[in-house]
Amino acid sequence: MYRTHTCGELRAIHTGNQVTLAGWVQTVRKFGAITFVDLRDRYGITQLLFGEDLNKELEDSPLGREFVLQATGTVSERSNKNPNLPTGDIEIAISSYKILNKSAVPPFTIQDDTDGGDDLRMKYRYLDLRRNAVKRNLELRYAVNRAARNYLHNQGFMDIETPFLIKSTPEGARDFVVPSRMNPGQFYALPQSPQTFKQLLMVSGYDRYYQIVKCFRDEDLRADRQPEFTQIDCEMAFVEQEDILSMFEGLIKSIFKDVKGIDYTDTVERMTWEDAMWNFGNDKPDIRFGMKLLNLKKPGSVYTNKQGQSELIDGADFKVFDEAETVIAIAVPGCSEYSRKQTDELTEWVKRPQIGMKGLVFIKCNTDGTYKSSVDKFYSEEKLKAIADAAGAKAGDLVLILAGAEERTRKAVSELRLEMGKRLGLRKDDEFRLLWVLDFPLFEYDEEGNRWVARHHPFTSPKPAQIETMINNNPVIENAAEYLQHPYANIKANAYDMVLNGNEIGGGSIRIFQRELQEKMFAALGMDKEEQLHKFGFLLGAFEYGAPPHGGIAFGFDRLCSILGGSESIRDFIAFPKNNSGRDVMLDAPATIDEKQFEELQIKLNLK
Ligand code: ASP
Repeated sequence: MYRTHTCGELRAIHTGNQVTLAGWVQTVRKFGAITFVDLRDRYGITQLLFGEDLNKELEDSPLGREFVLQATGTVSERSNKNPNLPTGDIEIAISSYKILNKSAVPPFTIQDDTDGGDDLRMKYRYLDLRRNAVKRNLELRYAVNRAARNYLHNQGFMDIETPFLIKSTPEGARDFVVPSRMNPGQFYALPQSPQTFKQLLMVSGYDRYYQIVKCFRDEDLRADRQPEFTQIDCEMAFVEQEDILSMFEGLIKSIFKDVKGIDYTDTVERMTWEDAMWNFGNDKPDIRFGMKLLNLKKPGSVYTNKQGQSELIDGADFKVFDEAETVIAIAVPGCSEYSRKQTDELTEWVKRPQIGMKGLVFIKCNTDGTYKSSVDKFYSEEKLKAIADAAGAKAGDLVLILAGAEERTRKAVSELRLEMGKRLGLRKDDEFRLLWVLDFPLFEYDEEGNRWVARHHPFTSPKPAQIETMINNNPVIENAAEYLQHPYANIKANAYDMVLNGNEIGGGSIRIFQRELQEKMFAALGMDKEEQLHKFGFLLGAFEYGAPPHGGIAFGFDRLCSILGGSESIRDFIAFPKNNSGRDVMLDAPATIDEKQFEELQIKLNLK
């Protein structure tokens, strides 16, 4: 037997017991004739005391950091207790020991605040994983996994595995492909998600399916994405949107409870996609704080007249506003006393290339009831007050206004809002606010191809009241500049996203389940009959054999863990992640393969 106990479990009540521990040497401290060793394993650290009698042996074969050690001795109460360590009341007076394996000097210290940089830690990830900080993240991941499985199991869901070597599933990214040796010239695709399989399982009658499953998407790796990531993937039959929403807010609340001990008793807020875009500038609003956007040129709003001019800002000869497609304001609480230096810094912030604005207009709503702005030349105090009031500003607030092209300005204000929220400490790590965003558009305009693409995926059903609009209108966009006027631009889907603290943690939809409508959908996306059959013949076929109404959702498991763990990076919650260029620096993958493998696959490289 290698050990009687772990390095984390011995306490004062064990005093006098004869024990054997095994683990890694964290530190060795020599005091004259005695030596202290901190021995570490997954469960903790225990102090070992090597007395004079073992001195010679230790000198002959000294212990080094990360040596694997087995040591036997008696538990004794420490005179000098360490209250910061669970095992800090005791130490083991060692009578015999054995070095099970030596270790080279590790390239960084295996401690919470290690001296190892990111790249080095990734290269030696197996050592990094010994660190407490990383271990805690993996423990949290496992706790989320267990909580999800418990909840779903209790709700009658069945975990069913689906294949990885498949034909393309469209989730909007490129597929990773795998050549087939037995079928030369043919390729499998790795699933971007199990989407079509889980729908087939509904046809087969497994009306509550889930899987915690790897998905593969060959995307350009924008900040914090991984080419392979994990979803909690779920599907249900005989459900409407409402059933899905309540089932899966239950899931997330149950994870909160089991993993964080949080009783999330509030009802989960809901917002339409349109409202999210107008009021927060993006489709995953962080609702831990207010600071809603006021679009001063919103068509049809109380501030805009029939000619589309904003009565609050237009006609004051301020060209920047007059000529801008969009002007958007936010009221930042308690910042009216910002100095010149601070407003200049904010102006520089919005001018950074990532934000890309030309400048920033501000109105200070002073506590004495006066208004001061960077556009005093153009607007009377009365006008400034009207703008500030409309933006919801109170005395003491600072109104920030950006103007420019619609999409860019909306994005910029949305970023500015988040930045100000962060600077003012309104985005607290330990506060969790859930939100459903509903009624997404069914289609998205693809500028490059001047065509419609599915906003979620092609299996998402339109709102029933808008099915006719989809069926009865030609998808062709005659005039690219006026695509917004096309009837398809306004069709909404039975699709929903769950948002947590400004992050999309899950998304799904009610699906199309009739062959005819699915064919119409494919056709709307520009697929002719032949392509439909080639790509999705199996699904269309299945829909002919009694497909039940169904819908589902998938949660980004890595992201959920990172938010619950209070971290910005999903990599911290993946045992063996890839770097920002999609490389595994430990394995040094991707890599070239042997000539023989190419031959077997009958593949010749033609690199450009
Ligand atoms: N398969 C979808 C996705 O990966 C989720 C769903 O619609 O259930 O986003």
